[in-house]
Amino acid sequence: MRPTDGQLVCPHCQTKGFVTTKQKNVLRDLLGWSQPVFPGGRSRQKNKAYLERTCSNCRTTWEVR
Ligand SMILES: [Zn+2]
Repeated sequence: MRPTDGQLVCPHCQTKGFVTTKQKNVLRDLLGWSQPVFPGGRSRQKNKAYLERTCSNCRTTWEVR
């Protein structure tokens, strides 16, 4: 994955070239307090991927779903 996506304009500071994108996973975020994980049943769990973007110019982090 590219460290910086030069095409993205930060919606917070309107600056281009400082936004980095990370792929996140809702299931992984919820582990530990939500649903139990069944052996071999991971594919049946809610497993929604989403993107987390961080602007290194204004230091804002937001989610894209
Ligand atoms: Zn920004």
